[in-house]
Amino acid sequence: MANVMRQAMIRSYPKSRRIQFDAYSVLGAWALLVTCGLLFALGLAFRLSIDAVLITTFTVFLVVALLHVVLALSHRCPSCNKHPTVQGLAPIHPSAVPQSGMSGWARVIWDVYRRQQFTCIHCGEQFRVDTVA
Ligand SMILES: [Zn+2]
Repeated sequence: MANVMRQAMIRSYPKSRRIQFDAYSVLGAWALLVTCGLLFALGLAFRLSIDAVLITTFTVFLVVALLHVVLALSHRCPSCNKHPTVQGLAPIHPSAVPQSGMSGWARVIWDVYRRQQFTCIHCGEQFRVDTVA
């Protein structure tokens, strides 16, 4: 009951759909980068000629990473007016506690994907991400 009350008190992020697509683009980029590493290792181990596949996969990774940059810069925290998935060089807010070895903007991405809520790394405000209908 207390958890439900706490959830209801968390503000809804105004650009919920945008930050969700931002999170999906990062997860896609990470998966493509891992795929590139695996393809490279397989190519070396088995002397496969997969240069075209590797170059294509890496190009798609670059496109998805660029999409993330565009999406990350297209939404701002309503409390501090900064981008929650762009960390920069400033230290993160103490309320954005690292969990499971993940902190900063990567933690925001993971929390949006797994929990549909996140803590702004700049001001510490908590937000609920309304699921895409
Ligand atoms: Zn903020």
